[in-house]
Amino acid sequence: MEAYPKTTDKPRKRVVNKAAWKRTREKLERYSSPGAPKKPSCKNHCGKTFSCTLLTHREIRQFHDMFYLSRDKLKQDAFILKYTDHCIPKRSRKTTCLRENRAVSVKYYIPTLSHKKVPVCQKTFLGILLVTKHRAQGVIQRFMKSGKMPVETRGGNRKEKLFEKKARSVQDFIEKFPVIENHYCRSKTSAVNHCLKNIDIPENVERLRLMCDGCGGQNKNTTMIGMLCSWLQKAPAHLQQIELIFPMVGHSFLPSDRVFARIEKDIKKHEVLVLPQDYVNIFAEHGTPINLEDKVFDWKSACQNVIKQPGNWHFQFNPTKYFFIIKQRNEIVVRGEQHYRSHFGKALTVFRKKCSATHIKPKPIVSGEVNVNPLKLSGISALLKKHFGEDFMQMPDLQFYQHLLETQVDDIAVDAEQEACTNKDTDGIYFYLSALKNVLEILLYFQSFPLQFIFE
Ligand SMILES: [Zn+2]
Repeated sequence: MEAYPKTTDKPRKRVVNKAAWKRTREKLERYSSPGAPKKPSCKNHCGKTFSCTLLTHREIRQFHDMFYLSRDKLKQDAFILKYTDHCIPKRSRKTTCLRENRAVSVKYYIPTLSHKKVPVCQKTFLGILLVTKHRAQGVIQRFMKSGKMPVETRGGNRKEKLFEKKARSVQDFIEKFPVIENHYCRSKTSAVNHCLKNIDIPENVERLRLMCDGCGGQNKNTTMIGMLCSWLQKAPAHLQQIELIFPMVGHSFLPSDRVFARIEKDIKKHEVLVLPQDYVNIFAEHGTPINLEDKVFDWKSACQNVIKQPGNWHFQFNPTKYFFIIKQRNEIVVRGEQHYRSHFGKALTVFRKKCSATHIKPKPIVSGEVNVNPLKLSGISALLKKHFGEDFMQMPDLQFYQHLLETQVDDIAVDAEQEACTNKDTDGIYFYLSALKNVLEILLYFQSFPLQFIFE
């Protein structure tokens, strides 16, 4: 029988209790009664137009309590509107002073115990409710203007709008930078190939499923598919099909991502990481790094002349989430689906005319023979000079860089023009990691350290 998770009384996620918020409590406090209602103190206008002095204690108390029955500002404002009358003044007097005639004329009422509204003066009305003149006038003026009941305009997401332009310009600025992969191994096609070559596929297995994270076209490229076609061609006969799956971006939880996150955390702990071995040591704590030296092949150029441009494929390349690489009558065909469960696509060849998977013959990339961008080299030597001083070339610990700078320096003059502007990524010869620290920013270009990473 299957085991179900035990239910407990405690909810797994805390329910939001807005009533307990400090802000809510303060708000309620603000709209509570500040004290006892003031007794009307007017003498001149009793009985004629206003009935201030005729109000009894109970009536005053009742009116005050009715107002503070709700401690919600909007309800209180509506209450004020209910017991006031407002109109545009009928007559305007000529005045000699600078003050203009009032725009609204307001009449205030208070209900008696027999539910009759009696007129009172402003002072009495405000004194009983204990609100300021400005609040009452504001409520009435807003009502006159809009003709609608009071609405809450305070709070909400104001800041986003306030700083929208600034945020946009920051975003635009960041987007100006060229995007660089920041994962660990650029020799991924070679690494996957190496991994596939070394696994034993049991005889009853017909399909191989590969899950990839959808990170910026890292694995979703024609080179990867070309390599898989080439491998499937040579794979054991019982293996009929490879499925390459790209889960929804941001919704995949592949175990490898977790390991990478832990490694990234570890790398951040170090102020300075100088040697390739330093990185390998950190990797080794989380898995088994395999040195791919002499096992790296130039799949990119090998595929370029054999596989069609992705624009000429029989399905749209970029939105495809599910690739099927199928062995069909000794020929390799590819089918692409934009949805995980659909079967709309046709399986057709993706090779150029008169080409097939057997034509993909990658040349090995020998470590140390690939030219590093001279701009990067000069950047490295400048950083090393800054960190270790002028004579870093003599330091025994820095042999890796000395070798790198000495062997590469001759080529710089020749290749400078070609390489300076194009950041050429020969697939998988160098991968770099950046340890960003406030003091120093050391970028390492691992000329001779192609790695494959296996998770534990
Ligand atoms: Zn009065």
